[in-house]
Amino acid sequence: MNETALLIAIRTRLRQRKLPDQPPWRVSGEYASGGLCDGCGGRFTSAQASYFVDFSAGSTPESARFHRVCFDAWQRERELARTTAGDVKA
Ligand SMILES: [Zn+2]
Repeated sequence: MNETALLIAIRTRLRQRKLPDQPPWRVSGEYASGGLCDGCGGRFTSAQASYFVDFSAGSTPESARFHRVCFDAWQRERELARTTAGDVKA
C-alpha cells in the first residue's frame, strides 16, 4: 500500500470512528506475526515492528494495533482531524 492510499484508509477509519482521534493512553511495541493492522488492514509479519495502543476506558475502540508506518500516519491524521475540526473555511 502506498502512502497516499494508507492516509486515505486511515482518514476514512477516523471519520467512521473505527479509529479513535484521541491520544493513546499507552503504547507498546511488539514483534508478533498474525492479525491485521487497524490502520491499513494489512497482515502483520514477524519481521515487522508493530505498535499495540491502548486508549482510555470508554473510548471506541479501546485498543488498536498498527504497523509502525501506520501508527505514524494515524498520529498525523489524528492531529490534523483535531486541528481542522470546526473549521468551516476548508
Ligand atoms: Zn498497517
